[in-house]
Amino acid sequence: MINGEKKVEQPIRWAMVGGGRGSQIGYIHRSAALRDHNFQLVAGAFDINAERGLDFGINLHLDSKRCYSDYKTMFEEEAKREDGIQAVSIATPNGTHYEICKAALEANLHVICEKPLCFTTEEAKELEALAKEKKRVVGITYGYSGYQAIEQGRQMIANGELGEIRIINMQFAHGFHSEAVEIDNPSTKWRVDPKIVGPSYVLGDLGTHPLYLSEVMLPNLKIKKLMCTRQSFVKTRAPLEDNAYTIMEYENGAIGTVWSSAVNAGSMHSQTIRVIGSKASIEWWDEQPNQLRYEEQGKPVQILERGMNYLYPQALADDRIAGGHPEGLFEAWSNLYTRFAMAMEEKDQGRQLENSWYPGIEAGVEGVRWVENCVRSADNGAVWVDYQ
Ligand code: NAD
Repeated sequence: MINGEKKVEQPIRWAMVGGGRGSQIGYIHRSAALRDHNFQLVAGAFDINAERGLDFGINLHLDSKRCYSDYKTMFEEEAKREDGIQAVSIATPNGTHYEICKAALEANLHVICEKPLCFTTEEAKELEALAKEKKRVVGITYGYSGYQAIEQGRQMIANGELGEIRIINMQFAHGFHSEAVEIDNPSTKWRVDPKIVGPSYVLGDLGTHPLYLSEVMLPNLKIKKLMCTRQSFVKTRAPLEDNAYTIMEYENGAIGTVWSSAVNAGSMHSQTIRVIGSKASIEWWDEQPNQLRYEEQGKPVQILERGMNYLYPQALADDRIAGGHPEGLFEAWSNLYTRFAMAMEEKDQGRQLENSWYPGIEAGVEGVRWVENCVRSADNGAVWVDYQ
């Protein structure tokens, strides 16, 4: 049970790059980081527009001197202070992640980076090596993985409750961009510009989320080959896709699919993962995130609810309130930010976290690698490609 008592000795002095006024994702970063007092927001370069960023930082009760015009100045100036920042979250459009993450690691900061970590596997591996050399944590905000139902699924699979795993069906297919909404919406505009979003739109923006859920639930699963086809139903988005299907063959003989889409008209989110074993299946849907559907062959369906004593202790560990009360995305993110903080403290003390996982740099590398392989397959005529 999480009740607000400290998990780290001192709140980690923390800053943000991006996530400023009007941004889509900035507030949930701050809410998740600050909720359990594991982090203290002391500085920021919140906005591409320095004046607006300063005004925003002041409105967050920050010292105006620590609201910087850009991240480079922030890293330089904070390094001169005794009480300078120890960690930074990067919540800017995709095309900036690589350079900001690299600069943060070079400044000896722990990093929490939005997905995708960068655009190529080569860059991702470079960042991984740098994080290792500098002994810094890089957390990736695959926020949905912080739900307790995902942990429950992980434990059920590990304990053989599903039998041998055969099929993993995943999707993240919303309908919000069924029309060219990017014409009037700055947060969507950069998402369909290859210079800023990278080599894909929905594969990276959406598909990597359920993909990471499969990595959490099935940590030993390895992709052997995949095939992907991608479409731009709103023609002006080409060459970037607003819909894609990926089929994956895994090394253990299992098969998986990911449907990534922003043109699933009428759908709110439709992110699901269904894991099918030889004895039973589980299914999780992000619109009912406190529930895990458990279907044993030949028996009635069971809906497992968060907060109930029949769950594994690992799933109950993140309870913040008794079962029956809904928890949501903000709690899921807070769970991850708590783990990021604990990992940072352990790293600073030269210890290794035991019995804990969080989306780290390997998850960042894997997301970039998966997108790269999907694009290679799709752009060669939707052919099967060996996973590289
Ligand atoms: P957005 O366009 O709504 O906001 C971007 C913010 O970054 C703005 O405040 C902008 O002024 C600021 N900014 C841009 N360049 C900057 C720079 N060089 N220095 C400082 N600030 C800068 O974007 P968004 O939708 O919030 O997405 C941001 C990132 O978060 C993207 O990488 C996106 O993929 C990711 N994201 C992740 C999730 C998730 O579930 N993990 C959800 C949404 C977005």
